[in-house]
Amino acid sequence: MKTEFSLAQLADPDIAEADKILRACVHCGFCTATCPTYVLLGDELDSPRGRIYLIKEMLEKDRPPTAEVVKHIDRCLSCLACMTTCPSGVNYMHLVDQARVRIERDFSRPLTERALRAVLAFVLPRPSLFRVSMIMARLGRPLARLLPTPKTAPATPTLLRRIKAMLALAPGRLPAPGPVGGSVFEAVGTRRGRVALLQGCAQQVLAPRINQAAISLLTRHGIEVVLVKDEQCCGALTHHLGQDGDALARARANVTVWQREAEDNGLDAVLVTASGCGTVIKDYGFMLREDREFAGPAARISALAKDITEYLAGIDLHPSNQQGDVTIAYHSACSLQHGQKITHAPKDLLSKNGFVVKDVPESHLCCGSAGTYNILQPDIASRLRDRKIANIATVKPDMIAAGNIGCMVQIAGGTSVPVVHTIELLDWATGGPKPGLAGRD
Ligand code: SF4
Ligand code: SF4
Repeated sequence: MKTEFSLAQLADPDIAEADKILRACVHCGFCTATCPTYVLLGDELDSPRGRIYLIKEMLEKDRPPTAEVVKHIDRCLSCLACMTTCPSGVNYMHLVDQARVRIERDFSRPLTERALRAVLAFVLPRPSLFRVSMIMARLGRPLARLLPTPKTAPATPTLLRRIKAMLALAPGRLPAPGPVGGSVFEAVGTRRGRVALLQGCAQQVLAPRINQAAISLLTRHGIEVVLVKDEQCCGALTHHLGQDGDALARARANVTVWQREAEDNGLDAVLVTASGCGTVIKDYGFMLREDREFAGPAARISALAKDITEYLAGIDLHPSNQQGDVTIAYHSACSLQHGQKITHAPKDLLSKNGFVVKDVPESHLCCGSAGTYNILQPDIASRLRDRKIANIATVKPDMIAAGNIGCMVQIAGGTSVPVVHTIELLDWATGGPKPGLAGRD
């Protein structure tokens, strides 16, 4: 794609990066076929190629984006299916990240929308506040039924519609909190390794059982696990809202504490059980590339970051106690399959450990969770969820497995089939409790 940035514009490293990305696009349109919003809405401007044109215009003209541009960029899930499909290697992720920052900086959203985004950005990364908000949301759930749902979805969902979506996501009950930062879990038997485990923010409130399963499995296999003190939310939530000041501050804080832990006590990896977080941590090196102090350390932390299944693929697990009579529908989270290109490891681990693993038809399509997307774009999100659940139902699973808490909550909201994390199944197969039992929430 031909670009027309001035030399002055190209002196900005972000614009230079955008220019490189845009020039790689040959506007073939292959990406449209796998883009969930194009598949649902059929509008070229809701396809990757259409959005790439809109972003190009916005950056080249260096003018505040119009409401129309914002509407189509906001509808993008950042699922990155387009990156998997693109034959030219267009890095859509870095382009749309930049567009969101530009929109946040230059576009004045309506007051209610600004307020909602500010609340989400403030509450979600803070587990104690998020816990309180979930308790309040649970109490407010009966109200959700009284709030109207428009017959036709407006271009931009109303505040009431979004509040209704938010209330619907609140769990029926909240589990007790898990272990706190600073905890160290010793390896059982001879120590074979030492890892930091990301505590996460929403996940530690909604499902601490996931990291408990990870800790139990890792220590049982000789791996010491540390929950590093003063670790923060990875920054993914605010990064996807275009609030890069907050996201970069969190990235720097995490790089600092993980680097200190690695230097003082040694770390083989920083393990992540929420793939949405893992994708962003693996991008810290890029996000902080212009930071003279943090560029090197951030790149090293990104290299240390691993999805839990990626790490376990290199370890001999204890013999499984599974008999091949539990059928698992494996939901491949977008951040894992498109963001981190991890497609086989989770399924191979499950199969090797005695589960019957079924691929879900249209597995490349997002379930609609996408961070805060299911709150900000509830109508598109619920259509994607319904489609995902219909596809899952075709394989008649006993359980659904996924590697990302956002997907788990989104899918669980539309099915009675138990939705569990891949690590819970692997823990169960190698000596841990059955997911959802033994006091785990
Ligand atoms: S598939 Fe790649 S090269 Fe083709 S239009 Fe989409 S982004 Fe551009
Ligand atoms: S990230 Fe997903 S929703 Fe956004 S343009 Fe790419 S495929 Fe479409």
